[in-house]
Amino acid sequence: LESPLYADVGGDLDVSFEFFPPKSEKMEAQLWDAIRTLEPLGPRFVSVTYGAGGTTRERTHATVARIQRETSLAAAAHLTCVEATREQIIEVAEEYWAAGVRHIVALRGDPPQAGSRFVSHPGGFENAAALVAGLRKLHPFEISVAAYPENHPDSASDAADLDNLRAKLDAGANRAITQFFFEPETFFRYRDKVAAAGIRAEIVPGIMPVSNFASVQRMSAMCGTAVPPWMARLFEGLDDHPAARQLVAATVAAELSRRLYAGGVKHLHFYTLNRAELAFAICHLLGVRAKGQVGQAAA
Ligand code: FAD
Repeated sequence: LESPLYADVGGDLDVSFEFFPPKSEKMEAQLWDAIRTLEPLGPRFVSVTYGAGGTTRERTHATVARIQRETSLAAAAHLTCVEATREQIIEVAEEYWAAGVRHIVALRGDPPQAGSRFVSHPGGFENAAALVAGLRKLHPFEISVAAYPENHPDSASDAADLDNLRAKLDAGANRAITQFFFEPETFFRYRDKVAAAGIRAEIVPGIMPVSNFASVQRMSAMCGTAVPPWMARLFEGLDDHPAARQLVAATVAAELSRRLYAGGVKHLHFYTLNRAELAFAICHLLGVRAKGQVGQAAA
């Protein structure tokens, strides 16, 4: 390899960060520490998830509205169709618009009982595509949707999954953010399939830094993400070494990100799990620095 080991990835990489709404004062302090640590990196947007079954409606709203009000960041609100009528969802979206929030991550959501089949609410939006169409009629929101490099577990086939993605984009979504995955080839194969299907929208890889292997294994099993054998081996023997696990997590996620960038990806979305240091370290390894600091050492 002729390239230097840690040449910055470059100034043309955009990042965005995903948070979840806090459940306690302690978690709120952790979230705001994460937001304030990552804010200087100038992310394209930061998003806040919506709990299963709409359980975090108020907390998601309060968090997104505060980010929009008190920081320099563009806040995006996740919104799902679960357990709500169209009117209720439109009301939430109107509240976001009134609070100055211009970006919605529009999702179907999962059934309240994990593992059961999704049934849309009577009088609700039947899926994410219908939600996107509803939001489009309301205001000129920027809209992101979900994409699945390893297919959504409800999808009958690759073709059905791509048709569903197309339906969401045709309904007016601006981009898709992917479910997490662990091998760069998984994303590249998917990007090729998307392109072969004639879909031109931006597909943003979602990166999940793994510091708790057991919990990521559980999440992966639920959402259909393959966990490569090397990952189990990598985390073996680290149960009692939380600091080492963080270092390994940052290294693996940064390596995946560098390979994606080398393959032409210009925007990475990080699932931060509200932890500042991990996402910050990964961005640092990628050369994503606080605005004004880029290239200072070289100058
Ligand atoms: P859709 O795109 O509507 O559909 C998913 C699948 O369902 C399709 O591939 C298709 O197989 C099937 N399907 C849809 N419509 C039909 C139909 N009419 N007939 C037959 N089959 C159909 N969940 C949360 O609860 N809160 C969040 O904040 C959240 N954020 C997320 C962020 C990202 C980036 C991602 C990737 C996922 C997120 N999720 C979140 C998880 C998401 O809600 C689940 O994956 C859910 O099961 C599907 O949502 P979707 O928007 O992809 O659904």
